[in-house]
Amino acid sequence: MRILVDRDKCEGLGMCEAMAHEYFELDDDDVMVLLEENPPESERDKVHAAVQACPVLALSLQD
Ligand code: SF4
Repeated sequence: MRILVDRDKCEGLGMCEAMAHEYFELDDDDVMVLLEENPPESERDKVHAAVQACPVLALSLQD
């Protein structure tokens, strides 16, 4: 599983961080940093929830 980020869409709103801070973090300039691009399968539900939470649809999952 791989997390994909559309940087043109991301507005640094931080919903992804709120849902899964192990994988997404906003830096001091509100730029989202992907901490781990390839989460283990056991984390799919949490990562999927974070992807769904993005209000501008900047995140997606690739199997
Ligand atoms: S929730 Fe979406 S817009 Fe907000 S930081 Fe995460 S990817 Fe970017």
